[in-house]
Amino acid sequence: MEFDFVIVGGGVYGMATAYHLARLGAESVAVLERAQPAGGASGGIGQRGVRANRRDLRELPLIREANQIWPTLHEELDGETGYIRTGGTYLIEGPASTGFKGIDAAETYARAQTELGVPTELWGRDRVRSEYPGISEDIQGASYVPTDGMASHEATTLAYAAAARRLGVQVIHETGVASVLTADDGGITGVVTDKGETIRARREVILLANGGVRRLVADATGRELPLWTIHPLASRLRTSTSAHIPMLTGHETRPLSVKMLGTDVMLSGGWRGRETAGGSEVVTDRLAGNIEVLRHVFPYLADLEVITADASRAESASVDQIPIIGRCAPRLFVAAGWSGHGWAIAPVVSRLIAEDVLLGISSPLLTPFSPERFR
Ligand SMILES: Cc1cc2nc3c(=O)[nH]c(=O)nc-3n(C[C@H](O)[C@H](O)[C@H](O)COP(=O)(O)OP(=O)(O)OC[C@H]3O[C@@H](n4cnc5c(N)ncnc54)[C@H](O)[C@@H]3O)c2cc1C
Repeated sequence: MEFDFVIVGGGVYGMATAYHLARLGAESVAVLERAQPAGGASGGIGQRGVRANRRDLRELPLIREANQIWPTLHEELDGETGYIRTGGTYLIEGPASTGFKGIDAAETYARAQTELGVPTELWGRDRVRSEYPGISEDIQGASYVPTDGMASHEATTLAYAAAARRLGVQVIHETGVASVLTADDGGITGVVTDKGETIRARREVILLANGGVRRLVADATGRELPLWTIHPLASRLRTSTSAHIPMLTGHETRPLSVKMLGTDVMLSGGWRGRETAGGSEVVTDRLAGNIEVLRHVFPYLADLEVITADASRAESASVDQIPIIGRCAPRLFVAAGWSGHGWAIAPVVSRLIAEDVLLGISSPLLTPFSPERFR
């Protein structure tokens, strides 16, 4: 088999990049996915945060662009995204004197975020209490970004996949890539699947396989990207309390990231799952620790029942906690190392990758994420 573009990985990045390539006129695009579309970090329970608040400042220009796309993405794809703009806070607990960053730092971040196109307000104790009645007395304030929200990751990824297929992209699932083919000049010419089949790429191989990227790049180029795999722990909790959490909420010093799913609470961040020989597993006392943090901040959520907990969705993290996006060899484009925040920026980053590999347009928005920063 032979295609112009061979994409490895059927998560949101693989599917959205394939969609944009086809939309921009590429006629021969294949996505190879070892399991099923949305079988990795882009699938699973609940929703993912579309958050700019207190992300790495280098990502904010991307999130600003993504915020233009999210509200109408369902129309563009003719599918569900579940996107809602709830607004989002980052809670501040410790005063600066305790060694935490505190309100002064939050004010500085708010100014920097606003200057980068993400208008941010600083809330004091009273405003936090009027928005979050019953919140812990320890919370001193919050930074608030009205454009933050959340989206259904699995639905959106499948909507990208359906839109890509309608434009002629071939999605080949249950086909893993075992290795990347390198020509004598170091350029990449295709891949070999785990079934032993060679699939040639006339123009480019695009590795969007998240946790699978590091080994494939190392085998093909001898270069070890500074990436590792993490196993975030997500849980859905039920409470009989009618009080709830009004918006996407993070915390400056406690490992807490929380949102509502209807009347249930979705918790992510915090202690992670444990790696096992075959993947990863939920560890009961780690989950209990995460729930304890939630209860500390929201004491009214006393009677939480675990409906489901999942640590099976592996994610790649980079050494400087921002993604690695760019070429690692001639005709080998790579994007991974999302470090737990690849979701929010996927609609814009996937478009920029497609514009680069198809049209040769390198966006300055991607410059900070180049693999060359490690050389
Ligand atoms: C619990 C959790 C909560 C998160 N919360 C947020 C959030 O609130 N906000 C945010 O912005 N981000 C969040 N993220 C991160 C975000 O979901 C990911 O960064 C994003 O989904 C990554 O997309 P991807 O397409 O690169 O990876 P994936 O969705 O993992 O897709 C990669 C695909 O590649 C396939 N693959 C791997 N190796 C091979 C191979 N050799 N051959 C073929 N296929 C292969 C895998 O099967 C997988 O389907 C969260 C992640 C998790 C796990």
